Amino acid sequence: MKSNIMVLAELRENEVHSSTLELLGKSRELSRKLENSSVTVVALTTEELKETAINLLHKSGADKVLIATNENFKRFNFTYYLRVLEKISNNEKPRIILASATTTGRTIMPALAAALHTGLTADCTGLDIDDESGTLLQTRPAIGGNVIATIKTPNHFPQMATVRPKTFSPLTYNYEGFEKLEVISFTNDSIEDNMELLSFNSTDSSRKNVQDAQVVVSAGKGISNINNLELISELASLLNGAVGASRPLVDQKWLDYESQVGLSGHTVKPDVYIAAGISGAVQHIAGMQTSDFVISINKDKNAAIFEYSDIGLVGDATQILEEIIEELKNSKGERKNA
Ligand code: FAD
Repeated sequence: MKSNIMVLAELRENEVHSSTLELLGKSRELSRKLENSSVTVVALTTEELKETAINLLHKSGADKVLIATNENFKRFNFTYYLRVLEKISNNEKPRIILASATTTGRTIMPALAAALHTGLTADCTGLDIDDESGTLLQTRPAIGGNVIATIKTPNHFPQMATVRPKTFSPLTYNYEGFEKLEVISFTNDSIEDNMELLSFNSTDSSRKNVQDAQVVVSAGKGISNINNLELISELASLLNGAVGASRPLVDQKWLDYESQVGLSGHTVKPDVYIAAGISGAVQHIAGMQTSDFVISINKDKNAAIFEYSDIGLVGDATQILEEIIEELKNSKGERKNA
């Protein structure tokens, strides 16, 4: 079975990254448009974790699960990922290769595209199949987010794209499971490696991630003072949510990139998004308009963010945040005493 669509899986210890499931959901839809062509999911993992990977990917939506093992796949390793994916791509000859626009996808896919002598459309927010040519249509914001462009790349194959997490939904029906399983072990001497890993720094894994959180409380320049971030963190923690930010706060290093919501940051899809002191620039909206319910606080009643909000609170962000926190604490206290 040759795959027409190949999806690069991202696995965490005991789960598939939600963005992989979203890509597989979309790939099934694309494969129907390509006359039921097949979907292959590729996971790079260790011998020890291969059974877990197979179980995790069993009903994910792929026709074929291809597991590549190597001792260096305990975590992301640029050279090993690149060489193994290049070999697999040359063997599978997919028409389309998709990966999530996560740190891993954004790092490996451009290098893989160069190795396969093809192009890449990065950070897509939509994918479709051109009815006439059967090629991939890749939609993404362009020119600073002011234009939404649909890009056709009919001359080079495979067609490659990364897709922003939370753009698509995972399969909504019960998928029977893959038809074919292939496990390939790669030994170190089969991979040409000219890099030396000096150190590996990981981020705080206990921290709530904006992309997966059900509640995101985001701060913008309107919170005025770095000390006011404590109010944002306190509200996020009371709501069991994550802290988000507009880009200027990340640029001035008040918060790190993991918190940035927007075109050049993360796309979020929480049940509730609270924007405090954020104006609503198109580049910020691009990352949060997928939220189910938006509450905004801004002292300017004409702020653009209100057009995207279910509830708009006009006033000073610090004062309103303090009042909300107070109310929440009181109601939690009342519930405990009841
Ligand atoms: P401002 O636009 O300065 O807005 C501050 C708001 O706070 C104003 O509406 C003001 O009325 C309000 N305010 C002021 N004081 C108070 C107060 N006391 N109480 C309540 N409200 C108050 N931006 C992103 O956020 N994410 C991105 O990923 C991103 N990517 C970009 C990519 C490109 C290519 C470009 C060109 C820009 C990008 N930007 C991004 C930047 C974007 O254009 C805006 O500059 C940014 O979103 C503005 O952030 P802000 O709303 O916090 O600040």
